[in-house]
Amino acid sequence: MTDEPQTPTAGLLEVGDADAARVRRAAFTRLLATAAPITAAMLATEVDLTDEQVEAALRRLAAAGAISRDESGEVVAAGGLAVTRAWHRLLLDGRQYWTWCAFDGIGIPAALELDAVLDTRCPTCGAGLRITITAGSLPAGIPVVGWLPGGPCANVQADFCPEANLFCTEAHLATWRQTAGDPPGTAATLRELAETGRQVWADLT
Ligand SMILES: [Zn+2]
Repeated sequence: MTDEPQTPTAGLLEVGDADAARVRRAAFTRLLATAAPITAAMLATEVDLTDEQVEAALRRLAAAGAISRDESGEVVAAGGLAVTRAWHRLLLDGRQYWTWCAFDGIGIPAALELDAVLDTRCPTCGAGLRITITAGSLPAGIPVVGWLPGGPCANVQADFCPEANLFCTEAHLATWRQTAGDPPGTAATLRELAETGRQVWADLT
């Protein structure tokens, strides 16, 4: 252990090897372009690896929660962006997606400088929260706040995303933190989430 402050999102989307990084980047780019599932064969063509190399990279990525595949093996999500139903809905540049966490729904449009509408829910009161993002810029002057979990993260979808939510107000975030047993992490404004997202998704854009 060190005394360095925990940066909850440092290395959030890092993967261990060059093949996996290329495969994940290609999957993210293609999901953005088509909003449809991707076969391993399509990825192999794009990244100039063999089918076996792509399959091995996809297995490593899936084990880390960095991609998701459907029952037929097609890639349906990468780097937080999903084309199958998930908790947070994201209209991104006119296409319908879902995201693994609310932070993805802010960080991806911020990093890509795209128009987006994020629909999510406050975990404390269940209220629907709609955030409209314009060319990657977040609205100011609304009381919504986010939470960036800070605990150990072996699998981003399992360990980070379930708690990376938006709350109506600081008071609703405080209520959730108390109820959840004061978990490690950081509160962040929408603009702070956007700034962090631009760093996290920099290598995918
Ligand atoms: Zn609330």
